[in-house]
Amino acid sequence: MLYITSTPIGNLKDITLRAIEVLKEVDLIAAEDTRHTRILTKHYDIDTPLTSYFEHNKFKKSEYLLKVLQEGKSVALVTDAGTPGISDPGYRLIKLAQENNIPITVVPGACALVAGLSLSGLPTDSFVFEGFLPNKSSARRKKLEALKDEKRTIIFYESPHRITKALKDIEEVLGNPVVACARELTKKFEELRKGTAAELYEHFSRTNPKGEFVLMLNLKRE
Ligand code: SAM
Repeated sequence: MLYITSTPIGNLKDITLRAIEVLKEVDLIAAEDTRHTRILTKHYDIDTPLTSYFEHNKFKKSEYLLKVLQEGKSVALVTDAGTPGISDPGYRLIKLAQENNIPITVVPGACALVAGLSLSGLPTDSFVFEGFLPNKSSARRKKLEALKDEKRTIIFYESPHRITKALKDIEEVLGNPVVACARELTKKFEELRKGTAAELYEHFSRTNPKGEFVLMLNLKRE
């Protein structure tokens, strides 16, 4: 059995009882960064062996993990934060396991986009998750152009070194909409900051923030 297991997005207490049980009982935990996951396993006295499964070894490693599963062993897939497969390398292994008729189950839990959206105060009845915006400004602006007529709440993931560039492009391409920016969710410096893209650009250029971000906006409704 492959257990797709959600882990916290910051606060170590945001893990389900079932996830702890699964992580204790499986034969192997496949983790994006074993050092990172070891903080969690140590905290909960989990001594299951860990192996790394990340972006740059995902092809080779998913074949290895498939073999382990085919031998009848159980594997829990975890990533650095939140729900495996959501903007992280989980997808490849999940697909491969499905194609090979390995039994799979999900152990749901924290996910930054859902946490951010529920905190945002923006319409939640219908939304679209766009993952990370492209790195290059031209590609980023093209992507934003394509979203001009989007009626649903739009959600992006963003990193600290690109946040101001993304806000500048949102301001210029999408007509300076109100953006809800959730930073460091569930952590000590958690904040939700709402303002026009230009206001947030000004704020983050000045404060040079660290941490992780979820950017959300709705172009048609407040
Ligand atoms: N699988 C994860 C999930 O379920 O949300 C997402 C993995 S993705 C590689 C990492 C991105 O998620 C970060 O760059 C950030 O945009 C977002 N993220 C993760 N943890 C966060 C947090 N505590 N606060 C705000 N954003 C977070």
